[in-house]
Amino acid sequence: MSSTISFSEQVNRNFDKAAAHTNLERMLLTQIRNCNSIYRMSFPIKRDDGSIEVINAWRCEHSQHKLPTKGGIRYSESVNEDEVMALASLMTYKCAIVEVPFGGAKGGIKIDRRQYSERELESITRRYTFELAKKNFIGPGVDVPAPDFGTGAREMAWIADTYQAVSGGNIDSLGCVTGKPVPQGGIRGRTDATGRGVYFGIREACSIEEDMKKLGLSTGVEGKRVVIQGYGNVGFHAAKILEEAGARIIAIAEFDGAIFNPKGLSVQAVHEHRVETASIVGYPDAEILATNMAALELDCDILVPAALENVITAENVGNIKAKIIAEAANGPVSADANDRLLERGVMILPDAYLNAGGVTVSYFEWLKNLSHVRFGRMQKRFEEGAFRRIVSAIENVTHREFADEERQSLSRGASEEDLVNSGLEETMVLAYHQIRSISKRLGKGVDLRTAAFVDAIEKIAVCYQELGIFP
Ligand code: NAD
Repeated sequence: MSSTISFSEQVNRNFDKAAAHTNLERMLLTQIRNCNSIYRMSFPIKRDDGSIEVINAWRCEHSQHKLPTKGGIRYSESVNEDEVMALASLMTYKCAIVEVPFGGAKGGIKIDRRQYSERELESITRRYTFELAKKNFIGPGVDVPAPDFGTGAREMAWIADTYQAVSGGNIDSLGCVTGKPVPQGGIRGRTDATGRGVYFGIREACSIEEDMKKLGLSTGVEGKRVVIQGYGNVGFHAAKILEEAGARIIAIAEFDGAIFNPKGLSVQAVHEHRVETASIVGYPDAEILATNMAALELDCDILVPAALENVITAENVGNIKAKIIAEAANGPVSADANDRLLERGVMILPDAYLNAGGVTVSYFEWLKNLSHVRFGRMQKRFEEGAFRRIVSAIENVTHREFADEERQSLSRGASEEDLVNSGLEETMVLAYHQIRSISKRLGKGVDLRTAAFVDAIEKIAVCYQELGIFP
């Protein structure tokens, strides 16, 4: 998984490529590109065996052109300052692309979470939150973390609880973090939001005949052969929703191995097997591949890397056969591999757009926390009453009675989850067509990633220009 340039250099290279298509002043571009603030911390924790360990962690706020800043917290052995900066800058561009009014941030703790007990993870998470609070690197109007690789709703609940304890009765304190469990201020639909957003992005891309023809593919998701790398939050939900839409999941790769069945794997059955045995390897209805990286090189229509960065590099790009690479993870394709894939006509759905479903629904959760009311609570019953009256009026005019089930479905008011999923769909669909039209406007050779960055840079530039600092 090596790359000749660092992750943040890779993101900056994409930025520079896009910036060349804008007419913006050099200093303005420098301000947008630079990371504004970074907090590196070390703190000790007591392990269950009584020993003491020093933990290294970071939080980077890339851009405060909009507040709060927003971005996940990652627990991984490979976390380092460069990675956190790269991921924070991607968050800035991502928020701009999907028009979520936040600046970008990212946090990371350098641990392999599998080596720590639940008590140890809780103490690390609470201490990290306390460190952030001490330096004003967390708060509903300052910086709002979320789950990322190695973290989930449980960690977000610990963060919210710790922040509430130190924030002195701030009524909006639950808005200090998103991705929380629903009873602790979370929102329905957040857990699968990134995977669902990945699906909406793939669906939009596959719906355009002109683009599919160039790849030698038919339109639609149905029947497409999909390979998934990383069966965690994003990979599992993306696979599940793609399967529901009729795609065939032919291979799944995890850190400890990969499984393959050309007829299609059952996403739920593989998940249950993993819960039971702690591994996807050994799932009965599949062949085991020689290495987990071999899955990336399978002949397929859509490859969904949903684990970590730099998994498609100069070393293996020559063996990649997928026609579409859907970047569910952040930075899975290195810059040199990216150029070679584009030369070969592969369609790359870029991370800064494709995995923005998580931050979109995090935005909805934050709004819910600040408004202190569940979405749908005020209007659901009113809507149902109105729909029932319309249904009765139709029955009176047409002299036709709807069956009970039909009547119920026609008069259903929107629940919180319905509203979240529909807001997410609207966001992902609009953003896809926006970046595709920029790519068309800029002409031949301008790929979707460059177009997405142009979109982000131009939107962020307006914020600075309105301050009157830059021309
Ligand atoms: P996760 O921890 O839930 O899942 C990651 C999975 O990848 C795990 O099951 C892990 O075992 C597996 N994995 C690790 N190394 C692997 C390897 N070498 N080969 C195959 N599988 C491997 O993390 P996640 O939240 O699903 O995040 C995955 C990616 O998506 C990350 O790049 C993250 O930044 C990005 N992302 C996540 C969210 C979110 O809402 N969670 C939002 C946007 C982007």
